Amino acid sequence: MKIYGNQFALSTFESMFKSGRLPHSFLIYGEKGLGKKILAKYLAAAILCEKGTGIPCGECRSCRNAEKNVHPDIIYPEQSGKLNTYTVETCRHVCADAFIAPNNGSAKVYIFTDADNIQLPAQNSLLKIVEEPPDFVYFIFTASSKDVFLPTIISRVTPVGVSVCSHDECIRALGLKGYDSSQITEAMESFGGNIGMCEEYLENDSLRVITSLTKRAADSIIVRDEYSLLTVMSSPELKDRQMSGVFLEMLDRIVRDSVAIKLNENAVPISCYPRGAEKLADRISVRSAEKIHDCLNSAAADVRANVNSILLMSALCGEIINS
Ligand SMILES: [Zn+2]
Repeated sequence: MKIYGNQFALSTFESMFKSGRLPHSFLIYGEKGLGKKILAKYLAAAILCEKGTGIPCGECRSCRNAEKNVHPDIIYPEQSGKLNTYTVETCRHVCADAFIAPNNGSAKVYIFTDADNIQLPAQNSLLKIVEEPPDFVYFIFTASSKDVFLPTIISRVTPVGVSVCSHDECIRALGLKGYDSSQITEAMESFGGNIGMCEEYLENDSLRVITSLTKRAADSIIVRDEYSLLTVMSSPELKDRQMSGVFLEMLDRIVRDSVAIKLNENAVPISCYPRGAEKLADRISVRSAEKIHDCLNSAAADVRANVNSILLMSALCGEIINS
């Protein structure tokens, strides 16, 4: 199992393991595409590896089962319901199941991936078991941010932040996945060291279209050209609710980057268009950037509420240009 980047997280984990002070609960958090799930799987494999070195050997039966996602002691509780999340019932079932001895390993690891929507009652039902789990039980949660959890949960888990990879690491990883250098350069121009998002960009036509529309919209805002902004925002692709939601979020990130650059020239960009964000930073005040951010946020809420996207986008154009 190859993990790119996140060497700090891996070495911290290894040293906790070797010192015999391995926590029983982890929260792996960070943006989409940075490898949280694979890191969770890696930790679970390391906990269960028969060689017990803190690094999955990749050869023992346990590691081979973990790699193939068939290890009976690595348990992924099911997400269900309207919000497709972990319900109170599922969490109660986990609490009861946690007291049953492992199937064939030395431990049992429960992995709650994408726990962003986990509701408060469900979190509450897990409090006690997360605080005092049986000796052989471990919990790993993954989420985009720590904020989705109750402080009482946060205080009981060891947070592990994932980060973007270095330029070289990202090139190497994408190369190994079979992409050629021009594809890699193109993807990295928009998604930097985020390997997952680079891959998504190369595999998913819609994301490529949205990325290009987002950059064009940013260019129009930079020169305050309402007509060209309106042209971009009336693109047929943005009539789709999901697509327009992603577009608004990506555009908001460029605005966020421009503020970050204004406040600190060494700020690390998170948007798909760092060069655009730099230009925007020269052209607008923090105050107007905040106004644009508010407009984009309220438009995103309207999109989720199914407001007519054509009317919405044309109103948004005016608001942005006048911010
Ligand atoms: Zn092993």
